[in-house]
Formats: sequence, structure tokens, C-alpha cells
Amino acid sequence: MKILLLGKSGQVGWELQRSLAPLGELIALDRHVVDGLSGDLSDLDALRATIHQVQPDIIVNAAAYTAVDKAESETELANRVNGLACGVMAQEAASLGAWLVHYSTDYVFSGQGSTPWRETDAVAPVNHYGSSKLAGEQAIAASGCKHLIFRTSWVYGARGNNFAKTMLRLAKERETLSVIADQVGAPTGADLIADVTALAISQVMQNPGLAGLYHLAAGGEVSWHGYANHVIGFARANGEDLAVTAINPIGTSEYPTPARRPLNSRLSTQKLRDSFSLHLPDWQSGVTRMLMEVLNK
Ligand code: NDP
Repeated sequence: MKILLLGKSGQVGWELQRSLAPLGELIALDRHVVDGLSGDLSDLDALRATIHQVQPDIIVNAAAYTAVDKAESETELANRVNGLACGVMAQEAASLGAWLVHYSTDYVFSGQGSTPWRETDAVAPVNHYGSSKLAGEQAIAASGCKHLIFRTSWVYGARGNNFAKTMLRLAKERETLSVIADQVGAPTGADLIADVTALAISQVMQNPGLAGLYHLAAGGEVSWHGYANHVIGFARANGEDLAVTAINPIGTSEYPTPARRPLNSRLSTQKLRDSFSLHLPDWQSGVTRMLMEVLNK
């Protein structure tokens, strides 16, 4: 089995290089051209040509335009990478009879209420990043290709920048931190996403009826403020020298950003767990592992 992985150097892409390796021959690309193959999602012709050349059985797309605030001004680029490129992958997958595995976001939802979003809930993105990711989902669904789309949330990895690492850095530099307390979700490890992807691919090969859209997030829920408290508490308990003495909860309205953020990022993972007989661990266990790695414990 030949697998084409796009976005190999992102948080999820990095972990997929590990989890997909045992499934078959893995051709992993980032945005650069290597051996005549281009993984640059902004160059749609080169992307199409690359898929033609590789003739994969499975395309796994972990590349995305993920700069949420910048997407408000770089709308055309965000649309091309998150929307149009998915259309190209999906068309090529359909003509090859290949599978397409893709990732999306809870930002396709309005963020209202406090009920975990289900796959069947109405979408209503509140920012351009969310709209561009929704366009990608819709292009894949419309193509008729065999696909798995995983909507996830609040992704972190030991490699790359993430909220937890930013909190650790700020906790060393400042005595007081102010952290948003009215946005709620589940921090989800790139390693968990990659492991679930590999398990799901194995199962869907045996049972193609499992194709479709799934919500994938760690168990439980927390606000960014609660998450920061957890990270900083863990670091302190493990002997880190921190300057911070107060972590103040603030509202989203007190921290204006170019892109609006949804308040409710909760995802219901019932469909994924039932369909693939999976257990999704609580967010704390993955975050603890990542912190131990980052702090060298
Ligand atoms: P990262 O930002 O860590 O990785 C995205 C990767 O895409 C980067 O390696 C980046 O490369 C690459 N990329 C950007 N533009 C292009 C391009 N034009 N051509 C090729 N590659 C490009 O994201 P994650 O790993 O966290 O995200 C994986 C998936 O999960 C994405 O689909 C994302 O939308 C989704 N998701 C992420 C969330 C999060 O909190 N991070 C939350 C919910 C969903 P480079 O470094 O060179 O720019």
C-alpha cells in the first residue's frame, strides 16, 4: 500500500510520519519540492501532478493554513490551501480510487451553547479560517472520493509551538498572567490524532462503510484558563523555577484578536468511539506526557 502524506512537518504531520510508517510505503512531503514532487498546497497544478506521479492508495493531508488571525487578511491564500487544494486532492483520489484522509476543525461551528458538537449539527463558522476549512470539507464530500475527515480541536504536540509551551515561557517571565476563561474545549495531542488515524485507516480498509466525517478530540473539557493552571501547576510541582504568582481568568472580550473565536469548542466523539471501538483518553493524560517530554522529566 502506498501512502502520500502532505504536511509532514506540522504537529500532526510529524506524528503521522511515525504512526503511518507500519501501514505501507510512506511518501512524506512538506511544502518543498523533493525529487520532482511538490507538497505545496498553494500550487494546485504542482499538487495535481504530484498525486498523478505518486499514484497513492491513500492520501493523508495534514497540511493546512493554520494561522487563524492572519487568515482574516490572507483570505485568498487560506482559501486556496484549505479549500481549493482539498478539491484537487479529492478529485485525484476519486479518479485513482484512492482514499483521502483529512483534518478539519471545531471552528466550522458557531461556538454557541455548551453542548458538544455532533457531526450532524449545523455549521456556521465565525472566522475566515473556519470558512476555509469548511470549504475543504465540502469539496471532499462533493467529490465522491472515499474519505475520512476528522474534525479536531486545540491541537498540541511536543514538537512545534503550542499554548502549553507559551504558558510555560510566560510563567518564567511574568508574575501575573491573564488567560481566557470563557472558551471551552479539549486539548488534543497530535500523537493521539495520528494514532487514531492509523487505527481508523486499518479498519476502513476492511470495512469501507466506515468512511465519513468524525469528531476526534481527547476526553473531558477545560477552559484555556484551566489548561494554563494545569500546565503551570505541573511545571511547579516538577521543580521548574517560575516567576508567576497569579493566573487571572479573563473573558474573550478582554482579549481582542483579528479573528473571532468560538466559545464552545466541545466536540462529541461518540460516533468515532462507537464506529471504530476506540477509547479516547482524558486530555490531562496526553498533556502530562507532552509536558514531561518538554520539561525533560
Ligand atoms: P500545523 O500548523 O502544526 O501544521 C500545518 C502544516 O501545514 C505546517 O507544517 C505548514 O508548513 C503546512 N503548510 C501551510 N501552508 C502550506 C502550503 N501552502 N503547502 C504545504 N504545506 C503547508 O497544524 P496542525 O498539525 O496543528 O494541524 C493539522 C490539522 O488539524 C490541520 O488541518 C488543521 O486545520 C487542523 N486543526 C488544527 C488545530 C490546532 O489547534 N492546531 C485545531 C483544529 C484543527 P510550514 O510550517 O512550512 O508553514
